Amino acid sequence: MEGTASLGHRDDDDAALACLVEEIVDIHAAIASLEAELATRMAATQQIANQRAAHQSAETRMREIEERSIAAEIGLATRVNDRAVQNRMHDAHELVRDYPTAHAALADGRISSRHAAVIVETGRALQDPDARALYEATVLERALRDTAPRTKAFAEQVVEELHPRSITERHREAVKTRTVWMQHRGDSMSELGIITPTVLAEGIWDRLTQQAHETKTVQVAPPADEPDADDDAVYDERSLDQIRADIAIDLLLTGGPSVDPTTGAITGPAGGLAAIHARASIVIPAVTAAGFADRGATLDGATPVDAETARALLAGAPSWERIFTHPIHGHVLATDTYRRPANLDRYLAARDIHCRFPGCRRPARVCDRDHNHDWALGGTTDACNLACLCKRHHTLKTEKPWKPVQLRDGSIRWTSPLGRVSTDPPERYVIFRDEPDPPPSDPPF
Ligand SMILES: [Zn+2]
Repeated sequence: MEGTASLGHRDDDDAALACLVEEIVDIHAAIASLEAELATRMAATQQIANQRAAHQSAETRMREIEERSIAAEIGLATRVNDRAVQNRMHDAHELVRDYPTAHAALADGRISSRHAAVIVETGRALQDPDARALYEATVLERALRDTAPRTKAFAEQVVEELHPRSITERHREAVKTRTVWMQHRGDSMSELGIITPTVLAEGIWDRLTQQAHETKTVQVAPPADEPDADDDAVYDERSLDQIRADIAIDLLLTGGPSVDPTTGAITGPAGGLAAIHARASIVIPAVTAAGFADRGATLDGATPVDAETARALLAGAPSWERIFTHPIHGHVLATDTYRRPANLDRYLAARDIHCRFPGCRRPARVCDRDHNHDWALGGTTDACNLACLCKRHHTLKTEKPWKPVQLRDGSIRWTSPLGRVSTDPPERYVIFRDEPDPPPSDPPF
């Protein structure tokens, strides 16, 4: 009886599951269809940007301002970073213009937006319309019956077959995309990447691996004939990965380039570029600095840093800025500098933390100080009229009718060219009141 009952349950479950799967399939198709609609609209905004840009001067920067402003308008309305919106506009425009069959398949829910993205991104290498049409037909056939990652691998092979230019020519172009990038990954860790020609990447990897093996061999291994002879030996317990990372970081932080254009020297041991040291802005609460708590230290006021690292950096710094925050709401009240008098610039960097355009997170130290109300039109040079804006958004504000008005509490009320209003309050330092008060010997607020 029991067996029959559980089989009955399973039948019920199977029926319910089958129903859920059907519904999931339907919802997937509906989402794909909406994604196609969205792409149509996004492509249309790109089209408007292109038309407006055609009337602008030939300067690339000025032509791009139109689409940046439109991207910022959409970003403000949807709470999406405007750089991300701009990328989506480009992708949508390419999908609608260059891959109409794939766009139609998306609209019918036969492929997902990830498949469509694969087709657009991988096909970007093909310029010839005939080659692209053949590519679209071939890859779409695969996309209709396979996952997006597999479709991507297949699409790359198709591009390789159809590409009119030799790999030598293409590599020459690709070399121009070399870059270094950084991304925070949480827990006070970040990822640093380099895009470089494969032969150099392989070379770097091989050299680091050799150096790591050598380090491990020299430092770790107890002598083979007396395995536990030396009690004082310091054995290297780091993994090969950890040693590789440590050596790479050491080389990047302390080495200089082999050819230094600033000094003309083939190797610049002490001066020139080698003399440029790494900079980091650490915000560390007094109670954490004093060792009474372990919380609240941040890089550039935004990315959490562990207290040990923050205290080590503070101990080694020749001078530091003090930022006084309100004990309840956390707003910045004032700044001063150990050794130097307070100044407006430091205050702004501490208050704003990042660019004050809606959604932007460029750190204040790489931002311009913008007069919200133009200095030439009578705007004052004080904190009530100044704010940090990154180059991109400073230019946008100068060139297009994006209007900021600073309110008494440091909030900035932005009005977009289409009249959409958004208020950006100054960033606050997060404070929870469960830490002990600072010792009485600390400087009074
Ligand atoms: Zn910005």
